[in-house]
Amino acid sequence: MTTTSFLLRNVTVVDGTGSAPVPGQAVVVEGRRIAWIGPVDSAPSTAPEHVVDGGGRTVLPGLINCHVHLTHDGTPDLMAQVATDTIPIVTLRAARAARVTLQSGVTTVRDCGAADEVAVELAKAIERGMIPGPRVQAAGRVITMTGGHGHFIGREADGPDEVRKATRTEIKAGAAVIKVMATGGVLTPGVSPTQTALLPEELAVVAQEAHNSGRRVTTHAIGRAGIHNALLAGIDSIEHGFYLDDELLELAVAQGTFLVPTILAVDGIIRNGRAQGIPGWVVEKAENEAQQQRASFAAAVASGMRIAAGTDAGTPFNGHGDLALELALMVEHGLTAMQALVAATRSAAENLGLAHEIGTLEVDRLADLVLVDGDPVADITATGRVVLVVKDGVVHRNELTDTGAAVPKAA
Ligand SMILES: [Zn+2]
Repeated sequence: MTTTSFLLRNVTVVDGTGSAPVPGQAVVVEGRRIAWIGPVDSAPSTAPEHVVDGGGRTVLPGLINCHVHLTHDGTPDLMAQVATDTIPIVTLRAARAARVTLQSGVTTVRDCGAADEVAVELAKAIERGMIPGPRVQAAGRVITMTGGHGHFIGREADGPDEVRKATRTEIKAGAAVIKVMATGGVLTPGVSPTQTALLPEELAVVAQEAHNSGRRVTTHAIGRAGIHNALLAGIDSIEHGFYLDDELLELAVAQGTFLVPTILAVDGIIRNGRAQGIPGWVVEKAENEAQQQRASFAAAVASGMRIAAGTDAGTPFNGHGDLALELALMVEHGLTAMQALVAATRSAAENLGLAHEIGTLEVDRLADLVLVDGDPVADITATGRVVLVVKDGVVHRNELTDTGAAVPKAA
């Protein structure tokens, strides 16, 4: 996986900003970065072996999934998997998930919770080039109340002092972002998705500690009171957000809070159900929330709340590498295809605090590129037809048959 320099010609550029697609373009990658973008005719002269013909396909910024769990794989019964897991097995599973994710055109993910620092360490292994995978912004363990949602991948803490210590401990352990639980959830036994979890003063401490350390903070929040508490605490993004209403949306829009809707997660549980081995209590909770989720997402779209794409990959029947399915659901429920593309590129990068490096195709940004078959602005499912993946200027997937020798088949 050596870094190279090459010219990708004959492509339509969709740059991630929401600007109209520009056909007949070329992109020059030099080392880790994008060096030049413009019309094919005025592209800098390059040795033929360093030219890749994109065949008129569409080039996008490397896609970003703001909510994954690399340590899990979409097993029907997550709790059963957790109960039998060992750290080596979880680590190997996470490495496989990372590879699958990158092959799908996703060059950056936010891992929203994993036990035993597996995701934090995996991020380092990828960064060092030990294994292929997307750039991982890992939350480490989630901060949750005793017995609260995700306690099996979390650090349980109660009261402002314990919550402060837990947040600082995660930062010390290497968390690049903080994930906190403001409500109950679907996949944890004994809690209701709508119940309030950590209290306003506890959430405020988490946000303060995260921000003091220069990190962003996101929260799992399904019920209305929990979302409200999180917004008042100044948390940067809401995962799931099934009970957004006019008052909450007004607050979210004013503060610039992101929503990561994860429509695919509920969808995967309901479509497969008990028949495929998902515990009944999980299916029941998902079914109870599905209607509200769709209504809440539609309201968020109408309000102009900032939306970033995320799948919650790792939850039942929600595998890695399926961001294209989430984008299709976002379009089905109210976004235009271009808005969905922005949600998975520039907006996602902003949500992760990385917009100065990734999320748009611009000179001097990191060379994270994905080439897809078809026109994703006309048909969002084109994002699932990936033929070339470049991360940090390194080619990790190349299905083009007509390229020069400079662009090696990925390891
Ligand atoms: Zn999650």
